[in-house]
Amino acid sequence: MAHFTLWDCSKASAGSLAVLLLSGGMAWAEARWSQGVFPVAVFSGYTSHFGPRIGPFGGREPHHGIDIAAPLGSPIRNWWGGVVQQVINDGHCGLGLVIQSGPYEHVYCHLSGSVQGGVYRSGSVSLQAGNRLASGTLIGHVGVSGRSTGPHLHWGVRYGGRWLNPAAILRAMAASQRQGR
Ligand SMILES: [Zn+2]
Repeated sequence: MAHFTLWDCSKASAGSLAVLLLSGGMAWAEARWSQGVFPVAVFSGYTSHFGPRIGPFGGREPHHGIDIAAPLGSPIRNWWGGVVQQVINDGHCGLGLVIQSGPYEHVYCHLSGSVQGGVYRSGSVSLQAGNRLASGTLIGHVGVSGRSTGPHLHWGVRYGGRWLNPAAILRAMAASQRQGR
């Protein structure tokens, strides 16, 4: 598919991710990357890549994920089967979810919808900590909540407390799926 070429923006840190995964996470995920689901199927591009950057309101800051620009209300799918660890509602991430899958935590920010009493709701979606989710489950919709200047999904992946470059994970998934594994 044509949009695989968009992942060039992550070249800088792809090397360190490969080392990290080979030394740990790869053993868990190795043969199963093809089971992963792209969190936003239809998107218009990456507006911000992993690593140091100038923030949306000026000033240099680390960026612990990638920003995937997509039309407001675009469906967001769970990357990997797991359990909702946290429902976020703050001024930075906005409305968001943390999902735990084995040694990985994946974070979704700037969602549309609402959070009340620890329950995230958007359309038919209703999620709270402890909910078990299959990969590919609809978990929310793209919004502009929190520190966001336009509709996009901020997607971060942490392994053993360390942020990975999600673009490199998407690349590995794409390669694995091309090989039909
Ligand atoms: Zn972001």
